[in-house]
Amino acid sequence: MNKNELGVHVLSPENCDIDILDNGRTVKDVIDNKIKELGQVDNEEPFYVANLDSMYERHLRWLANLPRVKPFYAVKCNNTAAVLRMMSALDIGFDCASKGEIQTALSLGVTPHKIIYAHTTKPMSHIKYACAHGVDMMTFDNEDELLKMSLCHPKAKLVLRIAVDDSKSLIKLSSKFGARLVSVGKLLERAGELGSEIIGVSFHVGSGCTGGSAFKQAIADARQVFDIANLLGFQMRLLDIGGGLSAIGDFQGKFEEFSVVINEALDEFFPLDCGVQIIAEPGRYYVESAFTLAANVFAKRVIFDEMDEDSGNRTMMYYLNDGVYGSMSCVVNDPAHSNLEPYLHRVVDSSEQRYRSVIWGPTCDCYDKITDGYWIPELHVGDWLLIDNMGAYSVSVSTDFNSFERAHVYAVVTISAACCYGDVLRLVSLVCSEALF
Ligand code: PLP
Repeated sequence: MNKNELGVHVLSPENCDIDILDNGRTVKDVIDNKIKELGQVDNEEPFYVANLDSMYERHLRWLANLPRVKPFYAVKCNNTAAVLRMMSALDIGFDCASKGEIQTALSLGVTPHKIIYAHTTKPMSHIKYACAHGVDMMTFDNEDELLKMSLCHPKAKLVLRIAVDDSKSLIKLSSKFGARLVSVGKLLERAGELGSEIIGVSFHVGSGCTGGSAFKQAIADARQVFDIANLLGFQMRLLDIGGGLSAIGDFQGKFEEFSVVINEALDEFFPLDCGVQIIAEPGRYYVESAFTLAANVFAKRVIFDEMDEDSGNRTMMYYLNDGVYGSMSCVVNDPAHSNLEPYLHRVVDSSEQRYRSVIWGPTCDCYDKITDGYWIPELHVGDWLLIDNMGAYSVSVSTDFNSFERAHVYAVVTISAACCYGDVLRLVSLVCSEALF
């Protein structure tokens, strides 16, 4: 490992894929340079710049607002190695939903007890893999799963996921997962017969949650389940309040607002001295604002008003090299984040005329539409568009449909942030440490 002129550890590209920004370089400089570099080699691949500082800031915000709740990052949300290494360096746990996600976390040096296998319906081979690798904490919500786990991982520490009111969430999960309160008693009795160890309760209020009262009600419901389980002789010691938190766009300020509700509910139903560990499974909250996507306009069509070609009325159609089948599936899958607002990388003069524009993704499919009726200055083939807040459910959900390449991720940590944060230097060396590879 080398040191730069400030005495900071700077990893050479051979052993670290995280660029440590020094000499006043900014994320914008990285984007500008990358675009220039790509132009020089006649390549216009889409790419992300991932600003790890943003995740660190989110973590500090989490600690300040939810001091009792230990985060277990939901790997499904963004499984980029640099992101996972950052989470690991911050001593965050991991919520894994499959054998593959567990493998990835373990390969980064994460210890098994920092992993919760948070999927209520698991293939037997995945449960066996978790068992063989010391991942004991896992969720369930039905009797068949209890049976599978007692066969494949008899020593598992089980967390019962309950269905909660998700009517205030844009993405509802309780229609697919979670035991209803009325069935909890029977399920726990069956667990007792099978000799399973139940240690706690989990829930997920749904993603894009718009009302904090959902958390309060879910925590109250979890208390009821704790009481039933305690009566049946289980030693309940874990409450998992799931994910669903966001702090961008319409959700600005909601994180702090919901934190107040969560803390009050925890104090009421699970007071500090009750001996219950509180964890959560945040995904989007940690990564949403960290990623900026850069995509290239590789084709363009101008559609004139058929009735009156001379009027000059026209719609611009632009074709980007990334779209709904790549980084932007949120346009169709994620009501909390379906209005993307790409902006031009080049400087735009405020006097430039704006045209009604439709922006399409690169594939042959007509569902691959990014925005419609968007009023922007005229773009040209070769222009680059940027989209902020692209960290959640982008990289991990993208496909290479039509064999268009997935966007590459370039991760950065700024040196100025490192100086402000004080112990980030230690953090940076941890994030980049070869020991974690
Ligand atoms: N935990 C579970 C079990 C989930 O299904 C999800 C998302 O689907 C998450 C956590 C993360 O949710 P979010 O990214 O909204 O925080």
